Amino acid sequence: MTSGSPSSTPPAAPVSLGEFGRIRRFFAPLTGPAALGLADDAAVLQAPPDGRLAITTDTLVAGVHYVGDELPEMVARKALRVNLSDLAAMGAEPIGYTLSLALPRSVDDSWVAAFAYGLHEDQRRFGLELLGGDSVSTAGPVTITITALGRLDGPALTRSGAKAGDLICVSGTIGDGALGLEVAMGREAWPSDVAEALHDRYLLPHPRLGLGRALVGIASAAMDVSDGLLQDLHHILEASEVGGVVQAGAVPLSSAAQWVVDSDQERWLPRILAGGDDYELLFTVSPDRLDMVNMIADRLTMAVSAIGTIVADSGLRVQAADGTDLELKQWGFRHF
Ligand SMILES: [Mg+2]
Repeated sequence: MTSGSPSSTPPAAPVSLGEFGRIRRFFAPLTGPAALGLADDAAVLQAPPDGRLAITTDTLVAGVHYVGDELPEMVARKALRVNLSDLAAMGAEPIGYTLSLALPRSVDDSWVAAFAYGLHEDQRRFGLELLGGDSVSTAGPVTITITALGRLDGPALTRSGAKAGDLICVSGTIGDGALGLEVAMGREAWPSDVAEALHDRYLLPHPRLGLGRALVGIASAAMDVSDGLLQDLHHILEASEVGGVVQAGAVPLSSAAQWVVDSDQERWLPRILAGGDDYELLFTVSPDRLDMVNMIADRLTMAVSAIGTIVADSGLRVQAADGTDLELKQWGFRHF
């Protein structure tokens, strides 16, 4: 073909690197010595001499756990951070992670490059490395499974140690993730500063690793809030065989979430208490240790709020400011 002649052939599609090319180009640079360059059948990890390992896994499916149109680097960071939040809940320090990636053929190399860049950014931030993984093609949506390993230098935080009289505490603010999902889905037209703040919290959780480690030996029970404050508190109550009373007015809200609640409390307060994606730590602590918790929070420049009390009688009650019980069953809580 001479230059200038009309062409009947479409422009060539960019040549894909293929599975092994993508691993070499994008994922091998994320590894440390344990991964053996992703060139062997398994990673070989030096076990901590005196410590134990905490291991957790979480899967994100496009269209289920995230909307699907987010930037790939943000999806990568969220996939890693939800696992780090589980390590935080156990009081563990992250070491490394494996990644299993199922991608439809429509996902191109530039998506994978941006995804790997997101992992790179957060690996540096949180001090862990890629240990290995798998990559497959799928006829379904993008599916990301990360398994994270953390080191425990002392006992783990668990859900089963809450005792009557303990205070129920949460870090940060509650409800931003659930309200941010409304923004991500385009369902609510809130002022742009409110919408942006909530959307940011939905896109990118902040795993409370420092707080989790500091609470080992201090908190009587702990977990991270991923499925919704009340649902997750119910897990602690069941595991500890106790009950709880939460003061709705004590649940900490960001200024953006407060704006939304003020616009229609009856509609949005249940969503805040029951919605997911907070990735804050929920823990119980004996009242005589609250000073220690406040000192830890100050040191970490992080808010920690007491929102209720553990009681001996089973069940979960949520009280309004006037002391009356809110009707949880009307919100779809059948357990309580
Ligand atoms: Mg969890």
